[in-house]
Amino acid sequence: MVGSVENGGEAVEILPDHFDPTAVVPEPLPKVVESDGELVNGKSNGDREIVLGRNVHTTCLEVTEPEANDDFTGDKDAFMASILARYRKTLLERTKHHLGYPYNLDFDYGALAQLQHFSINNLGDPFIESNYGVHSRQFEVGVLDWFARLWEIEKDEYWGYITNCGTEGNLHGILVGREVFPDGILYASRETHYSVFKAARMYRMECVKVDTLVSGEIDCADFKVKLLAHKDKPAIINVNIGTTVKGAVDDLDLVIQTLEESGFTHDRFYIHCDGALFGLMMPFVKRKAFGSSDFEVYEAPKVSFKKPIGSVSVSGHKFVGCPMPCGVQITRLEHINALSRDVEYLASRDATIMGSRNGHAPIFLWMEKLSPLVLEQRWEVRIVFVLCIISD
Ligand SMILES: *Cc1c(COP(=O)(O)O)cnc(C)c1O
Repeated sequence: MVGSVENGGEAVEILPDHFDPTAVVPEPLPKVVESDGELVNGKSNGDREIVLGRNVHTTCLEVTEPEANDDFTGDKDAFMASILARYRKTLLERTKHHLGYPYNLDFDYGALAQLQHFSINNLGDPFIESNYGVHSRQFEVGVLDWFARLWEIEKDEYWGYITNCGTEGNLHGILVGREVFPDGILYASRETHYSVFKAARMYRMECVKVDTLVSGEIDCADFKVKLLAHKDKPAIINVNIGTTVKGAVDDLDLVIQTLEESGFTHDRFYIHCDGALFGLMMPFVKRKAFGSSDFEVYEAPKVSFKKPIGSVSVSGHKFVGCPMPCGVQITRLEHINALSRDVEYLASRDATIMGSRNGHAPIFLWMEKLSPLVLEQRWEVRIVFVLCIISD
C-alpha cells in the first residue's frame, strides 16, 4: 500500500494518499520573464530570460531537520525509499526521451556497483603516488597511456590526467599555454565553446576572436590578419575538434601553416586542441559518400603530438559514455614542470586544476575498453544512421 508501512500490525501513515512513488514527476517549464525580471505567467512574449533562483524552488526536495524526540526511523526510511523510487522512475523516463546532448547513454557498469562504498580520490599528480592510499592511479595511468598512443606521444614525453569534464581540460590546456608564454595572446574562433573564453577571463589573458566560415570552422584568412596585427606577442591558439553547435572541425594543418606563414616559429606559439566533442571520434570516423555503399576514410587533419601542438582534451561522458562527467587532458611533460608545485601534505605534485579528483571516473573509462575496433564500429553505426536521416 502506498504511503504507509506496517509497524507491529499497525499501519503508520507517512505519505498522503495521493502520493504515488512510481509516478513520473513532470518538471514545469521555466516561466517566461520580461526583461525587467517580472514574471509573465504562462504567456510567451518572445525571448526567454534566465532568472537566478526562480523556477527551482517549486520542485525542490527540502532538507528537513529530524525532530528532537524522533526515535522511530522506520517511516522515514520508507519515505526516503519512495522518494528515491519516484526519482528513479523520472530518470528512466527522461533518459529514454532525452535528445539534444551528445552523450552516449549506452553503457552498463553494473560490475562497478561494488566500488561505490569507497571514497576513491586521486588527488595530486597521477604519476606520483600520494599519501592518500584509496586511489585508482593504476587505472588512470592505463587510460592515459591509451590516449597518449592515440595522439602519438611517447610514454616518457607526455603528462596528463583524468579531469572532471571537458571544461577542466580546456582550463588546463590554456593555463599551460599561458605558463609557457606569460605574455601570449589567446586566439579562438567565434564558434569556440564558452569554457575557452572563461579561461581567458579567469587568467586575465588578452583574447582575440577569429571569424568562422559558414561551416563553423576557423577562418584562417581572418586568423592571419589578426596574427599579423599582434606579431610582437606569442600566440596561444584554441583549435576546435568539433564545435558544440555545428560540429565543425578546425583545420589543424592550415592553422599551423598560417602561423608559420605569419612569421611565428614553433617557439612562438602554443596550440591547445579542444576535442571535448569529436576528439575521440575523428580518429575512427569513416565518411560514407552519398550514393555509394563503400566507406571512404574521412580526411580531417589528424590530431598528433608529432605536429607542433601543446595539449589535447576530450570529454569522457560524451563519446565514451560514463555515469559521471569526466574528461581527459594530455600535454607535453616538458611544459608541466613549469606549472607544477610540490605539496608537502599530499606528498605529491600540484599540477592539476582541481585538488581532490574523482577516483571512480578512471575505472569507468578503463572498463569501457577503448579498443579502436569498438569505437570504429560504434561510429559507423551512428554515422550511417545520421546520413540516412539527412539524405531522406
Ligand atoms: C561539451 C564541450 C566542452 C565542455 O565539456 P564539458 O565536459 O561539458 O565541460 C568543451 N568544448 C566543446 C567543443 C564541447 O562540445
